[in-house]
Amino acid sequence: MTDYPTLPLNDGRQIPQLGFGTWQIEEENAPKAVKTAIDVGYWLIDTAAIYGNERGVGEGIGDWSDIFLQTKIWNDSQGYDRTLKAAEKCLGRLGRDHVDMLLIHWPCPDKDLYVDTWKALIELRDQGKAKSIGVSNFREEDLKRIADETGVVPALNQVELHPSFQQRDLRAVHKEMGIITQSWSPLGQGGGMDADAIQQIAGETGQPASAVVLRWHIQHGLVPIPKSTSRDHVEQNFAALSFELSDDQMTRIDALDEADGRLGPDPAKFNG
Ligand code: NDP
Repeated sequence: MTDYPTLPLNDGRQIPQLGFGTWQIEEENAPKAVKTAIDVGYWLIDTAAIYGNERGVGEGIGDWSDIFLQTKIWNDSQGYDRTLKAAEKCLGRLGRDHVDMLLIHWPCPDKDLYVDTWKALIELRDQGKAKSIGVSNFREEDLKRIADETGVVPALNQVELHPSFQQRDLRAVHKEMGIITQSWSPLGQGGGMDADAIQQIAGETGQPASAVVLRWHIQHGLVPIPKSTSRDHVEQNFAALSFELSDDQMTRIDALDEADGRLGPDPAKFNG
């Protein structure tokens, strides 16, 4: 991982700062997509039980045991015993004896099971089946509750985050608690490159618009995980590691935040 930017996690480990997302990549296409990402240079691969592609992702990673691999426990597996079993199934499908990061996919507040689910993740970490543990789509109150009830602060919270939805309040909470922010849909599901400011900065830097957006995440200390099944796009996105944005360019992207910029479900209401 020489020269690849990393961030320190609150458990003493390091996380690569640019990852590859695999949502909506079918099982049969996952080996090729993941191999391409590793070939281009990505060190972090994100999947989830619900994506239905863990076998393909594991096949794509093959013998690259240094790749930082993340998966997530789906909502219907919440609860202590179910989570322990679900994690074993994830590992079986991935063909590995551990993952680098195991996440609770959504808090599902109406189920009220995420504290027990978190306790199972702590057990899995103690067993070495997950080197680090974290959450996804957790709100401030959810983060504080699991920290208060177990004494273990998640290493990471993976949340929707792109220039139109910048999550400033939650990022401040993460900073205060020592939690890394990982950005899902970092390219706004492909629409995040259309803003005039992004196109202008792409022209100024001579870099792809997607790389400009991803560079903005990286310079804010976030961990973006763009998805693509196109090798050209995978390479364009990887260019985010090879240039810098000026303070003025960062400020112009900061100005794109919108109050109603959310694309995905609201974690307060999503219990699916
Ligand atoms: P992204 O913001 O990564 O955008 C993906 C879309 O952008 C695809 O349609 C892709 O198409 C397109 N794209 C990628 N690169 C380029 C490029 N250089 N130029 C033009 N278009 C491009 O959205 P995702 O929703 O996929 O989020 C990324 C990852 O975050 C997911 O794959 C998943 O791992 C994670 N995630 C987690 C969630 C959670 O609840 N925890 C929810 C949603 C996502 P193409 O394939 O043709 O390149």
